[in-house]
Amino acid sequence: MTQAERVARQEILRTVIARLEAYLGELQAEQKKALDGCEHSYADGRSAATGSATKVCAICGLVVKGRDDKLWG
Ligand SMILES: [Zn+2]
Repeated sequence: MTQAERVARQEILRTVIARLEAYLGELQAEQKKALDGCEHSYADGRSAATGSATKVCAICGLVVKGRDDKLWG
């Protein structure tokens, strides 16, 4: 690869990467909006909290508090 080719390739890649990053940002914003108000449960109503000492929601990824009311399943 010549330096000219390298420079040309870098310019193309930089443009594509910037476009994808903008798209990724839009998707992440959309995802955040969709997960806003997550009930930390699966569609069938089962709790989506997973982990032992620290419970994390498998859907939205947030730390789930208030395990006390689920002590006996
Ligand atoms: Zn959640």
